[in-house]
Amino acid sequence: MECIQGKCLVAGIAIGRIEIHEERQIAVTYIRAQDVADEWKRYEKACALATVQLQDLYEKALQELGGEKALVFEAQKMFLRDEEYHTSVRDWIENRRTNAEYAVYSTGQWYSEKLRCLGDEYMRERSQDVKDVTDRVLSILIDVLAESAVSNRRGVTQTITSECSIKADGHGDDRIVLARELTPGQTMQLDKESVKALVSTEGSKNSHAAILARAMNIPAVSGIEIRPEWNGKLAAVDGVNGKIYIEPDEMTLELLEVQNNAARQRREQLESLKGRETRTKQGKVVKLYANIAGKQDVDEAIENDAEGIGLFRTEFLYMNREDYPTEDEQFLLYKYVVESMQGKTVVIRTLDIGADKTVDYMGLKPERNPALGYRAIRICLKRRDMFRCQLRAILRAAAYGRVKILVPMIISVDEVLDVKKLLDIAQRELEAQGIVYGEVKLGVMIETPAAVMISKELALEVDFFSIGTNDLTQYTLAIDRQNAELDAFYNPYHLAVLRMIELVAANAHEADIEVGICGELGADVQMTKQLVEMGIDEISVAPSKILQIRDVICHME
Ligand code: PEP
Ligand code: MG
Repeated sequence: MECIQGKCLVAGIAIGRIEIHEERQIAVTYIRAQDVADEWKRYEKACALATVQLQDLYEKALQELGGEKALVFEAQKMFLRDEEYHTSVRDWIENRRTNAEYAVYSTGQWYSEKLRCLGDEYMRERSQDVKDVTDRVLSILIDVLAESAVSNRRGVTQTITSECSIKADGHGDDRIVLARELTPGQTMQLDKESVKALVSTEGSKNSHAAILARAMNIPAVSGIEIRPEWNGKLAAVDGVNGKIYIEPDEMTLELLEVQNNAARQRREQLESLKGRETRTKQGKVVKLYANIAGKQDVDEAIENDAEGIGLFRTEFLYMNREDYPTEDEQFLLYKYVVESMQGKTVVIRTLDIGADKTVDYMGLKPERNPALGYRAIRICLKRRDMFRCQLRAILRAAAYGRVKILVPMIISVDEVLDVKKLLDIAQRELEAQGIVYGEVKLGVMIETPAAVMISKELALEVDFFSIGTNDLTQYTLAIDRQNAELDAFYNPYHLAVLRMIELVAANAHEADIEVGICGELGADVQMTKQLVEMGIDEISVAPSKILQIRDVICHME
């Protein structure tokens, strides 16, 4: 048996077979080109090598798989002769003075998006070909031609990852997935039934991947250097203590079983709280809601007696796919959640894409500081048609229950006014088209220090606040929540954060609106009493945490 100490991301214990997930990553570094001619030469060389590789693949496929399959490589080779592609790369290198890697990456993004937008199935496939060719040329530039690059190149690295899904590969039903790092998109794709635990090399407690794993009740440990020979071996993961055991011995398994039973017993004790109101002994009622990321979490929210949905992270509907979800598709999903909650409140957060949540088809440019970048409402107020489509879908779902709209990453009153304008347009459009829709309340997330400091003004424009402590901690303390190295500094209990929560609650109540908390701090039972005393009216947490929080509140004076 081998025991490796890592870091706890999500508590819980699991046993299963190891399944190593290999992902392909290409790190593109933006560098200002010193020698334009040199960068162009590197590009030409990479294209020539890529052509040779594709020709080899074509011949191999022709022999082994037949002509039809081989045509894929022929089609990809064609893009290496495409004038428009070359012209774009040349433009990036010569006029914008970027290195060849960045020029190829940007061209690939733009070109594949252009083809994808042409809409038909054939063009969408070609769009994928462009992506594959781009990845191939990039790999050659980075892996093979790196030595011809200027040695002291310094720049901003953007990692682009082909988000391959994780599939079962015959290791039995109970899988322990090991990966260097999981993106939120990949985490979402995990099969909740068969994946019993996640183990990664990288990964911070506050990342969306960890938050999702927590919501899915999948124990997770990070900080583990993965060894290929582990693949297929039996492993036990102790998410509570951040440990992983390879081929655990009998005694270890027994000890873990004891811990597991104790946790099960605690859960069973909490069952008696189902159906009970969340109220302190003195009678203060707190709304106790669930955070969900999609349809798959609704049952668990109901099972754990959620009094509503306090945060529906809709961005996951936009991920792991080739194109935007249509209005009807969104409407059906929102309607499903609203109807499932049977008249209870459902807070639907509008698209919060960006930073660690990426969507290929949106064609967003790589950024130097993605957390401080083009994300959430900033994108929605620029891509107004896309946003209006989501607002229309939510309004339509509101006809089936009690719906609130929550807008992320707000930093100004003007943004709120703009959202209201779009909401109004969406309502009038639906009205004119004779499409049924319902009333909605509008709220904003308070997750930037700017929003905190203008919460008095914001409170006059909206119906409710929801404090996002994950980002609020990140932006207040200037700590990248994605950076595992900084986990020790990421302190949501910092006085600065707590004072902000207090200020926001006071400003909300002064304007007679409610204030909730939907960040991970709300799920910390050590904090519940303090948050309720600060005046928090609603707490929204991962479904599995609901009864624990209710227990604390019901025992409060
Ligand atoms: C937050 O920032 O606290 C929050 C709830 O939103 P997310 O974690 O999705 O950024
Ligand atoms: Mg946030």
